[in-house]
Amino acid sequence: MRMSQLFGKTLRKVEARGSEGMVLLVRAGFLRREPHAWLPLGARMLQKCRELWDACLSQSAQQMMVRPRPKEAVEKAVMNIAGKEIASYRDLPAFLEVETRPGSKTLFHLEEDTTAILCFGFHSDPEEMEDYITEAVKGVSRFLEACGLEAPAPQESDGWDWIIPLEGGPSRLVRCPECGYEAPVRWAKIRKEPLPPEEPRPIEEVATPGCTTIEAVANFVGVPKNKTAKAVFYSDENGQVVFVVIRGDLDVNETRLACALGWVPLKPATEAELFMAGIVAGYASPVGMSGRGLRAIVADDSLLTGANFVAGANKEGYHLLNVNYPRDFKADAEADIALARPGDPCPRCGAPLEGGCGIVIASLRRARPNLTYNTPEKTRAPICVSVLALYPEHLAEAVAQLHHDERGLMWPRALAPYQVHLIGLGEEGLRAAEELYQKLTARGCEVLFDDRDESPGVKFTDADLIGLPIRAVIGKRSLAQGGVEVKERREKESKITEMDSFIAHIAPGS
Ligand SMILES: [Zn+2]
Repeated sequence: MRMSQLFGKTLRKVEARGSEGMVLLVRAGFLRREPHAWLPLGARMLQKCRELWDACLSQSAQQMMVRPRPKEAVEKAVMNIAGKEIASYRDLPAFLEVETRPGSKTLFHLEEDTTAILCFGFHSDPEEMEDYITEAVKGVSRFLEACGLEAPAPQESDGWDWIIPLEGGPSRLVRCPECGYEAPVRWAKIRKEPLPPEEPRPIEEVATPGCTTIEAVANFVGVPKNKTAKAVFYSDENGQVVFVVIRGDLDVNETRLACALGWVPLKPATEAELFMAGIVAGYASPVGMSGRGLRAIVADDSLLTGANFVAGANKEGYHLLNVNYPRDFKADAEADIALARPGDPCPRCGAPLEGGCGIVIASLRRARPNLTYNTPEKTRAPICVSVLALYPEHLAEAVAQLHHDERGLMWPRALAPYQVHLIGLGEEGLRAAEELYQKLTARGCEVLFDDRDESPGVKFTDADLIGLPIRAVIGKRSLAQGGVEVKERREKESKITEMDSFIAHIAPGS
């Protein structure tokens, strides 16, 4: 590529916004912020990232494009298609790759306005899936290594997240200052301190006038919040209500909830939807709700310890004492759906978690959709699903942040949009550089050729800013010394190399 024709210029100055890496991506002509656009250099780097990812991880994945219905998560759309196309054990395993655009609804990056490449693995049994996951975790390590990143070993809770710590990074995290536990908020777990066992007592209705919040009820009845059962409502795409019951001191994690329900898109239920379902807002009760046309009742596993909770009576101004699960109500699903908040106990060591920022580069999760296939024995068995996500834009920001100096970016070879930054100086130098450019590109070498009519200073400054791995300069001086002056971006010293041996070194065997 000739720089005289390259779309997008380097900038000497930009308003500092975001991380240093982000600012450099803008200055070096990879990225523009308003509107958010990857210029050709950036788009090419992201394409390299994708190729490297495929080489390390999803060689066997077949690319697909899906168009989910409005508000439908892309994962759900893929599951729907898989459910129709995968019939028998002969169709397994299957690997599908789908790219999602910023703003599309996915369960993986609810709060991140960024591109994701999702690789879905469909497996015939849990063992096969675990083998694949073991290989995938190794593959991600290889990928990160090639990108020059050392992501701390991912931590499994019920999935893996590869996180680069970065103040001001785009991903919201919680982390434990004691043991180092770290996870994105939407997947993080907490330790739920078990309540002391009690003898279950008979249910009792009490008047609680005006007590429509957990605080008010707990104060009125005289119990701590963790002795109440809180009702939270969502509705699905058809307006059917999902009734969630969770201990009163906890909040609901909507991502975990959606997954527990098999990837159902959820929104907070409206008053009208509650009314239609016969639910008295403020006094809602899980007791007696079975068989009343709800989409589902979901109980958080926090209700499994302790006894005699205070819950609504589904009657204006009344609550029930001594509600016990599962004695008094049944749930369609029982899951860990509590949200991790700063101050909540770490799932590993119990110390209070802290809120923080960082960059999540990749995630891997097991999914439990309701999909089945025909086994060789002609029975139906559940399909096990893994979902591996890469966030290429996050990766680019992390690499730019961790690989630069005061003069500009320093791309690892695997991600560099071009391998060689070729500079011709003066008439003679430009002529020789043109010849070298033709020879290198003919051999398939990726060269960015600064053929512009600019001063050496401008050309060197731009080369450092853009940060390709190798800089090759041809001018009067280098020609007098017998060739081309070669310098690696990461090194201080340059050396003169003969033209032919440079070609042989850069594009060997072609
Ligand atoms: Zn901890």
